[in-house]
Amino acid sequence: MSEITETASPSFAELPLPAAMQATLQQLEYHSMTPIQAASLPLALAGNDLIAQAKTGSGKTAAFGLALLNNLNPKRFAIQALVLCPTRELADQVTQEIRRLARFEENIKVLPLCGGSAMRNQITSLENGVHIVVGTPGRIMDHMQRGSIRLEELNTLVLDEADRMLDMGFHDDIAYVVKRLPAERQTLLFSATYPEGIAQLAKQFLRQPKEVKLLEQHAETKIRQRFYEVKNEERLQAVAMLLKHYRPVSTLAFCNTKQQCRDLLNVLRHEGIQALTLNGDLEQRERDQVLIQFANRSVSVLVATDVAARGLDIANLEAVINVDVTPDPEIHIHRIGRTGRAEQDGWALSLCSNSDRRRITAIAQAMNCPLEVDSLSDLKNDDTSPLVPPMSTLQILGGRKEKIRPGDILGALTGEAGFTREQIGKITVTDQSSYVAVNRDIARDAVRKLSAGKVKGKTVKVRTL
Ligand code: ADP
Ligand code: MG
Repeated sequence: MSEITETASPSFAELPLPAAMQATLQQLEYHSMTPIQAASLPLALAGNDLIAQAKTGSGKTAAFGLALLNNLNPKRFAIQALVLCPTRELADQVTQEIRRLARFEENIKVLPLCGGSAMRNQITSLENGVHIVVGTPGRIMDHMQRGSIRLEELNTLVLDEADRMLDMGFHDDIAYVVKRLPAERQTLLFSATYPEGIAQLAKQFLRQPKEVKLLEQHAETKIRQRFYEVKNEERLQAVAMLLKHYRPVSTLAFCNTKQQCRDLLNVLRHEGIQALTLNGDLEQRERDQVLIQFANRSVSVLVATDVAARGLDIANLEAVINVDVTPDPEIHIHRIGRTGRAEQDGWALSLCSNSDRRRITAIAQAMNCPLEVDSLSDLKNDDTSPLVPPMSTLQILGGRKEKIRPGDILGALTGEAGFTREQIGKITVTDQSSYVAVNRDIARDAVRKLSAGKVKGKTVKVRTL
């Protein structure tokens, strides 16, 4: 695939970064800076504290990642940077991205420290020497209280998704941690929204911060927004109606509560729609599998609360459905900003009952758009064929630990097995397992041929998820 680089977009070459770092960015195919990177990196690399606000998917991780790597001395085996994140998924995503950015140096150790993992292993990893820690406030606080983490050489603190951390009630944990860090440091605060609490937090912990706000108007032509009137008791069924009418390939459905997520999942499954949900009860591996299946288009709908969906890097959504309208217009704008990215159009569909009137009026005002509420009875469900995702996910037992790379899997499928490149979708390799999306109609055949053949010279166990 060839891409046209816009001449107007600012290049990383303009930044005072080492040549090896520039080369890594080239390798990652980061050819130009995203707007938030262009606005924040010159300030951050000059050593300023920073408050940066931009929507999900705008490249905030690389913005602070490059800044903290710039402050880092790899030869000193001490924690020099700490990134606080609201959830384990986000901490994992941030860890991955920093590791990618840090590839230009041999031996930079990045360690995620979150609740839900064994303390013992984390302590051993800390003892082995770490440069960068990415973690949730509670777990970092735990380590500080036990004396298992040393932070006196820290020079960069990042508060990522700061608004969400406050929403989740982490203020006091953050304060506990930050008050015990060296005062001589650079602090970078990243947030998708800018509620009052953020200003407070900044006043407490940042020094003469520069502010960068990118409230990009979501290109209104790309997001088509519709509100539908519902009675509360028909809300969940209405989601199925919308899906059958609009027939999006990938939809993120937002609920305000976990219970509603579970209820919606049952209704959708009953309607024959492939849906999964993200919630705190899943084990890490199960959560990974949910995200992989959704991102590679083998599941039509991901049902989530704002907290669960926060910051997740999911591209290509044809629709966002607000099963409940959120009371906060800024969160609404943020939710629907996940659809209609790049060249694609997207649908933002919201269900509202009488009691939601005030909420949607506030949204229309905030978005400066006329408020029209449609009726579900206008939806024509002409196409009665089942809504089926285009892809199906195969799980191969064996991953990074077995030195399997995406190319090995693609090779096995397009080589001996005889499939074409076009029939194969996204390939994801994790430590223990690999996942490959294939066109739904070849899934069975692909399982059979992969099981009978070899991946990287070895027989492998394969199943459809
Ligand atoms: P945010 O934290 O703002 O939600 P992320 O940091 O997760 O966004 O970035 C979203 C995606 O964009 C990631 O997949 C990341 O690898 C990619 N990305 C970041 N910066 C660039 C860039 N300059 N060019 C191309 N892709 C980028
Ligand atoms: Mg982020």
